[in-house]
Amino acid sequence: MTRPGGTWRNWGRSASVRPMRVERPRSPEGVQRAVKAAAAQGLTVKAVGAGHSFTGIAVAPGVLLELDDLQGLVSADAATGLVTLLAGTRLHRVPALLRRHGLAMENLGDIDRQSIAGAISTGTHGTGTGFGGIATQVRGLTLITADGEFLRIDETQNSELLPGAVIGLGALGVVVEVTLQCVPAFVLHAVDAPVALDEVLPDIHERADAADHLEFYWHPHTDVALTKTQTRLPESTRRHPVPLVQGWIDETVLANGVFGAFCAVSRVIPAIIPPFNRLAVRLTGRGEYTDASHRVLVHHRNVRFREMEYALPAENLVSAFEELQRLIVDRGWRIEFPVEVRFAASDDLWLSTASGRDSAYIAVHRYWRADPREYFDAVEQIMLRHDGRPHWGKLHSLTAQQLRERYPRFDDFIALRDRLDPQRLFGNRHLERILGA
Ligand SMILES: Cc1cc2nc3c(=O)[nH]c(=O)nc-3n(C[C@H](O)[C@H](O)[C@H](O)COP(=O)(O)OP(=O)(O)OC[C@H]3O[C@@H](n4cnc5c(N)ncnc54)[C@H](O)[C@@H]3O)c2cc1C
Repeated sequence: MTRPGGTWRNWGRSASVRPMRVERPRSPEGVQRAVKAAAAQGLTVKAVGAGHSFTGIAVAPGVLLELDDLQGLVSADAATGLVTLLAGTRLHRVPALLRRHGLAMENLGDIDRQSIAGAISTGTHGTGTGFGGIATQVRGLTLITADGEFLRIDETQNSELLPGAVIGLGALGVVVEVTLQCVPAFVLHAVDAPVALDEVLPDIHERADAADHLEFYWHPHTDVALTKTQTRLPESTRRHPVPLVQGWIDETVLANGVFGAFCAVSRVIPAIIPPFNRLAVRLTGRGEYTDASHRVLVHHRNVRFREMEYALPAENLVSAFEELQRLIVDRGWRIEFPVEVRFAASDDLWLSTASGRDSAYIAVHRYWRADPREYFDAVEQIMLRHDGRPHWGKLHSLTAQQLRERYPRFDDFIALRDRLDPQRLFGNRHLERILGA
């Protein structure tokens, strides 16, 4: 919560602002009043979710709308699977809201701290060659636009705007409700296994297509991929969750406690990074368990980091990944955080990183106290040569002109923005860079 007169900071501590005013509307009408008041005073206004974007996309120098009081279920229909949530609803609250309706979200990213509106606005995704990002689950949304009016967009009203408005980057208005197509609740059988990289890479696409969900982590300075493979099963399947104590040791002690201490020490003694990474892949990354989908898909991330992630045409994955491996060796860098590789199906959303092409994602991370620029800049050049598109919520250096070349519907989005927000009431400096003035 941002105190009046206080400073707002994002999770990765890579963006901050002292807004002129902070408001916490409790209803869609409250959002409407706040937008109208800001416009009347000539102030910009911006909704933030959980502040989990690494870029300045959520920075609100004028009026900051915190939507923490705009959470909850508006409606759920077990027969159709259509679920409407208030826009500020955090993803980790959704399973409890859907439980009695027997429904679940079709897929999730790595964490569930985000708000539903923030997650869809930046194209948040998980993994699975048969699944799109969270925005592809959206069947409707309600916006407060710059003129202070409600605009409903769904299959029956203003349907032609839906593919453009879902990944709206916070540039089109304030989302107050989101309607999702949910699926019957399901469980996932998960197998985590370290596999030699030179075994995984040659048939990575066959492996990804054969699994419902596949991703892998590569710790630089090792030759091992920590693979995570998940199979969807009916909810009635007998569960074998990770035992509580083991889960606590894996997530709290190893993945966060020990890893956090290692990251802090590695700042002073970088030479410990290669041996620690080799030890990590020997001691972690093995397991087999079956549990509710959200418990398997989502992890806790307490060690702060900064991230850059690019979506590539799936067929460019291996070449880009191998170039990244060579880069780290050639430059003699010691990289403490793993590289993550995921997949998504092609979709037709205008600003989706997977728009029009089956995609593979490569994400690079650095500890938040380390300077990521040299590493990220060099990796970005590799990704751009491989026709990459940057994640809208993660660090990158592209401008509107470069993004236009990468998205066939970019100018349609700009035209929609010009129509819904001609005065840039919802603008900020980051949006000016990536969309133009
Ligand atoms: C630890 C961590 C793990 C992550 N894991 C993944 C992952 O697995 N997959 C992935 O794809 N991404 C991942 N991300 C990125 C993250 O999902 C996105 O940046 C997402 O946008 C964050 O949601 P948020 O609620 O924090 O939104 P914010 O960062 O607060 O806002 C993001 C954008 O949405 C806009 N917005 C928010 N609410 C509204 C609203 N009501 N109306 C209009 N616009 C709105 C903001 O103005 C801003 O433009 C991760 C980030 C972190 C820090």
